[in-house]
Amino acid sequence: MNRAVPEITVLRLGYRIGRDPRITTHLGLVARAFGATNFIVSGDNDKKMFDTIKSVNSNFGGKMDTGYVEKPIKWMKDFVKDGGQLIHLTMYGLPYKKMIPEISKDKPIAIVVGGPKVPAEIFQISSFNLAVGNQPHSEVAALGLVMDKLVLESESSVQFEDAKFTIIPDSGGKNVVEE
Ligand code: SAM
Repeated sequence: MNRAVPEITVLRLGYRIGRDPRITTHLGLVARAFGATNFIVSGDNDKKMFDTIKSVNSNFGGKMDTGYVEKPIKWMKDFVKDGGQLIHLTMYGLPYKKMIPEISKDKPIAIVVGGPKVPAEIFQISSFNLAVGNQPHSEVAALGLVMDKLVLESESSVQFEDAKFTIIPDSGGKNVVEE
């Protein structure tokens, strides 16, 4: 993988079976495409929700792990205690473009996105509370923009070495190489 950043975990809070599978799958796909190493979810435990992400891993490469976390507050506190940088995406935070240069690339990173109700305590636990504009929008958009700046910088995409299928950028149509 062509990234000069440490391990990145994306944590999605408050998943609800029945309401959130599609948007949470999209979060997982964005996390993977931009080079996250782990995608974990709190709230309802729905193993089936990870199927699409696993199938994309198997076709397009990458080894991003997926999993469930029962006690996300404890997970976040432990992550920070162990030296990780916790980045909470929130419309109330500081501008991400200005703040990302402050994030060390020598320490593990976890990016937290909210669901229906984000406990206020997360603002205190987090190393950075970052906003992608100070308007309410989407966790998928916020994650994509932050990971683009944090991971890709001036690169166009993350490369996956173990891909069965690789898409070759093409102005005229679908150009896919099968290994
Ligand atoms: N109503 C929820 C709450 O209690 O905070 C927020 C719902 S919002 C659709 C879900 C998540 O999207 C937020 O928790 C946050 O992670 C992300 N998000 C939405 N707008 C954002 C913004 N402007 N900047 C950064 N993240 C944002």
